[in-house]
Order: sequence, then structure tokens, then C-alpha cells
Amino acid sequence: MHELSLAQGLLEQLKSICSEHGATKITKVSLSIGKQSGIVIDSFEFGFEILSKDEAITENAVLEILTVDPTSRCMDCKATFAGFEYTSCKHCNSTNLRSYGGDDLVLTQVEME
Ligand SMILES: [Zn+2]
Repeated sequence: MHELSLAQGLLEQLKSICSEHGATKITKVSLSIGKQSGIVIDSFEFGFEILSKDEAITENAVLEILTVDPTSRCMDCKATFAGFEYTSCKHCNSTNLRSYGGDDLVLTQVEME
């Protein structure tokens, strides 16, 4: 259960953010998850739902997940393309490309009380 351990890790992270800010409750959590990440969103939400109910800090937290399409960006001409499969820029042929949003889970916003 990969997703359950990810949800567990997220909750640990939320608890430490809460104590850093002196907050007692998390009301909303926003995440972005890359479509190439292999994370099954439904399983992740399910895991979060179960685990968050165990903690007073997160029991009412609403989870909002945004899925992100992978994009490649040319570092030279700043053109962006959807997808990961490029090795050179369609525009200027530069190979100085970077990809974003493909394979990670990013905590984008936490609302606390
Ligand atoms: Zn380019």
C-alpha cells in the first residue's frame, strides 16, 4: 500500500507544520500530484480519510487534489511543451530542457486554525 504510506507521511508533515505555526486544527490541505507519479488518487484519498480521522488536528481537514500534466520547458527560449518525451526543443533545438509536474506530490497549501 504505497498510497497509505504517502498519506501517513503527509499527515506527519501536516502535524509538524501545525506545531511550527502554533495551530491546533487543519481545515484544508491542497496538493498537486503529477500524472506520471503512479499514485492512485482514489487510494490516496481513502488512506488520508482513514488516517486523518485518528488525529484531532486533522479530523476535519478537507483534502483537495489537483492533478498536474507533465510539461517540459526549454531553458533557453522558454518554450513549454506538454509531455516528457522531448529530448530537444521544437523551437530552437536546445537540449537544455527541464520537466515539471510529472512524478511528484507537492503540498501546495495548508489552511489552519
Ligand atoms: Zn528552445
